[in-house]
Amino acid sequence: MLSAVEDGLDTRQSDVNTEGPAGRSYEKLLRPSLDYTPEVAEATAHIFERVKHHIPAIEWPVHAPYIHAINTLKKERDAVILAHNYQTPEIFHGVADIAGDSLQLAMEATRVKAHVIVQCGVHFMAETSKLLNPSKTVLIPDMKAGCSLAESITGEDVRLLREANPGVPIVTYVNTSADVKAESDICCTSSNAVQVVESFGVDTVLLIPDEYLAQNVAKQTDVKILTWKGHCEVHERFTADELLAYKEADPAIQIVAHPECPTEVTAVADYTGSTSGMIDFATGQKAGAKVLLVTECSMASNIQDQAPGVEFIKPCNLCPHMKRITLPKILDSLLEMKEEVTVDPMVAQKARQAVERMVNLKH
Ligand code: SF4
Repeated sequence: MLSAVEDGLDTRQSDVNTEGPAGRSYEKLLRPSLDYTPEVAEATAHIFERVKHHIPAIEWPVHAPYIHAINTLKKERDAVILAHNYQTPEIFHGVADIAGDSLQLAMEATRVKAHVIVQCGVHFMAETSKLLNPSKTVLIPDMKAGCSLAESITGEDVRLLREANPGVPIVTYVNTSADVKAESDICCTSSNAVQVVESFGVDTVLLIPDEYLAQNVAKQTDVKILTWKGHCEVHERFTADELLAYKEADPAIQIVAHPECPTEVTAVADYTGSTSGMIDFATGQKAGAKVLLVTECSMASNIQDQAPGVEFIKPCNLCPHMKRITLPKILDSLLEMKEEVTVDPMVAQKARQAVERMVNLKH
């Protein structure tokens, strides 16, 4: 069987089915043409409008055929693409159906109706989508897209922590593996960590694995916080001295930091908050404001169109794990239905409970 698909793309189906994830059979699709034709230019022109300040026009003929092919294949595969704010602009604006921070993506994953979720982010995010919507096929374009923070701790470490601290509740940041979530009492995000810690009504709580998030939370509560020495390799690299140098050069600059940054950094910030909190702060500024985002490089590019009058200053730190996800890998992921992310059902059940306890906390 050969059948042409919409939009004039040559993603014809062969007569061979391929064994896909979860034992399902998926039609094998031929690799589409990746020529930059007038049709591709026209179909992607509205996307280029959104990214033209971040992607040079000379590079667009490289990205546009992939964007066009991926957007066509998504329909063929009944797939949606969830993309984190730290993905590159061509992914964030070009192919994402839903974009946001890790909590927003997790919440959106529960509402996905399509059969396939392609997670453009890191592995723990794909696991979270799977455990919150287990009937879906969850793919990640690069299985090696990890995270220094998530990999700092294992489920076995959490069991040992519980043995060493009997009776102390364990709160786990959502940026962790399903194994770690499953060993926890409840999850938290950077925006609700104080509320979650105080919800137990006890003197001492373990907040793991991000040491800096725990220290930043400890400044806002009387609860004694025990923690772990995990760090985000992007946020831990910022220093107070480099930020103060920006401020000295231009006192109008507002420093906006993520709580995964060291406390010496958040101490000099005008605002500290979760990724969505940082976005709200930046988009709430008047035209002409200068905002320095103390986070991953791509975020400023991705939110610029929500805050067109704001000048973003980027003391750039890239996340090498997020940047493993590329348009060619997303295309391969959809063509070959790879790499599937699975979670052991017993682990998923316990991990889901920890996430749901957080979601069900009264606000
Ligand atoms: S930015 Fe930090 S927390 Fe996020 S994936 Fe990269 S290393 Fe992990």
